[in-house]
Amino acid sequence: MNPVDLYRGEIFYLTDSPLDKETFYTYIADGALVVSEGHILESGPYSGMWQKYPQAFLHDYSGMIIMPGMIDAHIHFPQLNIVGMYGKKLLDWLNNYTFPSEKDFNDSAYSDYMAEQFVNTLFRNGTTACVAYATVHPHTAESLFRVASRYNMAMLAGKVLMDTNAPDYLLDTNVCKSKDGIEESRRLICKWHKRGRNRYAITPRFAVTSTPHQLAEAGKLHQEFPDTFIQTHLSENRSEIDTVRSLFPKSKDYLDIYERSGLVSERTIFGHCVYLSDDERKRIAEAKAIVAHCPVSNSFLGSGLMNLEQMNRANIQTVFATDVAGGNTFSMLKVMGEAYKVQLLQNYSLSVGETLYRATLGTALSLGLEKEMGSFVPGSFADFIVIAPEAVPELALRGAYLSEKEEWNIENKLFGLMASGDDRCIQATYIAGNKVYTNNSCLNR
Ligand SMILES: [Zn+2]
Repeated sequence: MNPVDLYRGEIFYLTDSPLDKETFYTYIADGALVVSEGHILESGPYSGMWQKYPQAFLHDYSGMIIMPGMIDAHIHFPQLNIVGMYGKKLLDWLNNYTFPSEKDFNDSAYSDYMAEQFVNTLFRNGTTACVAYATVHPHTAESLFRVASRYNMAMLAGKVLMDTNAPDYLLDTNVCKSKDGIEESRRLICKWHKRGRNRYAITPRFAVTSTPHQLAEAGKLHQEFPDTFIQTHLSENRSEIDTVRSLFPKSKDYLDIYERSGLVSERTIFGHCVYLSDDERKRIAEAKAIVAHCPVSNSFLGSGLMNLEQMNRANIQTVFATDVAGGNTFSMLKVMGEAYKVQLLQNYSLSVGETLYRATLGTALSLGLEKEMGSFVPGSFADFIVIAPEAVPELALRGAYLSEKEEWNIENKLFGLMASGDDRCIQATYIAGNKVYTNNSCLNR
């Protein structure tokens, strides 16, 4: 028999969408997750699992929550060193901070080093899979795929496509050896797409920085490789939308530009979507495209308030993301807390269940990767995290207060983590059954 690991703790995972079903999660107060060969065998009450697998190696995380790792659906790998820069809205932010910092990734050794830092920062924050933008330099996507492969991590990523309205030093025509970003993307797809847990995402940054020709070629590339993903930005900020309108005067709206280019599909992830019209929402829902809501970024760059209730009403698949470094944190817990605030400002009380759904199972389902990640279904990869709900001192005080009132239940624990938790609460992160991060303040189990 293969070696079996048994992780004891409070087991929590989503089983359905809280918008569709009354029973949408599994919670076992004294539970166990059983893992073998990097995959989940099953989960259940600790006593039963221990009886069934008496030879298993026991990891005792009693008093902590064991849940699926979080999925960050929109993040910029090369921006990890410009987290928290002062005072700029989107277009100035790009010109003042993003583009100059991405220039440094021309150096492939630097890119490899930063890719390692990037995934380790994700692990420290409890993120076990992501959909990431590299830079225009093709080797930056390779840095990400290489480091993800080493950890057997699910990495969806692509080299950014830009052939206009960006500094010369970041244009495909100047940066790519072939002078053609599409050709380089095709080469990367052939080399990396579906190699291990890697998937390629065709990545035109946004309509401003690609010519109509490049957008159309990106659409054709997706047709050539229909199981690749597409990621881009849509309707994030008012001056961006004005710029897009002046660059594409014949388009009826922003989404139309991507539609004409063949870039709107059920495998397209649109970042932001703060200012969509009803008609754009309707067309996104019809195409089954995915919207990545990045509330921390929308607040930090002063972009605006995305209305999740409108997305839900239109039946759009919305998932959550950091958008580092427009988002000034890698923590999906903080993203969840910000989503709660941003939605409440618009009179929508986002439930704990819906919030978690949009960072775990809901994201996996949207991406078609639910057999691999996002819950604890048997056979999926053992990508999970261990969370201490009282690791932050004020959360410990809150826990003691709620315990006295006999209200220290899983919902209150999870909401506390979103409202006031951060990477201090992440005690361990496992990818495909391997521990890739342990919090130093946690006993090594
Ligand atoms: Zn972004």
